[in-house]
Amino acid sequence: EAVNIIMIGMAGSGKTTLMQRINAYLHERKTAPYIVNLDPAVSKVPFQANIDIRDTVDYKQVMTEYNLGPNGGILTSLNLFTTKLDQVMDIVDKRAGDHKYFLYDTPGQIEIFTWSASGAIISNTLAATRPTVVVYVVDTPRTASPATFMSNMMYACSILYKTQLPFVLAFNKTDVVSHEFALRWMEDFEQFQQALMRQEEERFMNSLIHSMSLVLDEFYNNLRVVGVSAMTGQGMDEFFKKIQEAVTEYHDEFKPTLQRQI
Ligand code: GDP
Ligand code: MG
Repeated sequence: EAVNIIMIGMAGSGKTTLMQRINAYLHERKTAPYIVNLDPAVSKVPFQANIDIRDTVDYKQVMTEYNLGPNGGILTSLNLFTTKLDQVMDIVDKRAGDHKYFLYDTPGQIEIFTWSASGAIISNTLAATRPTVVVYVVDTPRTASPATFMSNMMYACSILYKTQLPFVLAFNKTDVVSHEFALRWMEDFEQFQQALMRQEEERFMNSLIHSMSLVLDEFYNNLRVVGVSAMTGQGMDEFFKKIQEAVTEYHDEFKPTLQRQI
């Protein structure tokens, strides 16, 4: 059965590089993925995309034509692409029998996909057709400080609630910094709190942290976590194990609600 994987993450977290790694990993196993690039502003894609938003829209031209800045240009390009989504899905669906994994790379700036109507339409459309998993890519070295860790987790949490889709949190760049600290903090909130207090002004964070701990605890319970390195390929077996678990969750929890909605 085919599976959609949507890559989401902060700019520079390594979405594109991880796509490339997944692509290489699957090619080695003779299960080449089907790849869709949804980032109109990427200058060079290090893999062969089967469908590329840049073939449909030229984001620089969109910027000039509609007198927009870079973010507006990217968002408008995504909107233009989304108006043709039914045609895109027709093409993709024809290939559903030939590939196990369908990978979707999203724009570098995370909010363009996660907080736009187009992003919602795309992920809902994908999720309505076949098992769909969101991979939230984290730049591990850059979230090693407790405060950035918390804001990144809150962001991931808000996306989980917004998409309602099965989620895999991929701590990337473990070749630089291991994600052990993250596992520890997620398992034991007190350890996290202590780390935070060491760094931050107590009065600033104390009450905020306390209320957020409840939200995050619930979030962590619903989460699959894996450490990967897009650079070296470490963690890829584990990554696909988590994807498979997420697919099970899709069938058990997401699909029934989808059918109720229809
Ligand atoms: P995107 O904006 O999320 O698509 O991020 P990119 O895939 O373009 O990666 C941003 C930067 O991080 C690039 O310089 C990559 O070479 C680097 N990078 C990505 N993954 C890894 C990794 O696993 N390890 C290391 N050391 N660097 C990485
Ligand atoms: Mg990218």
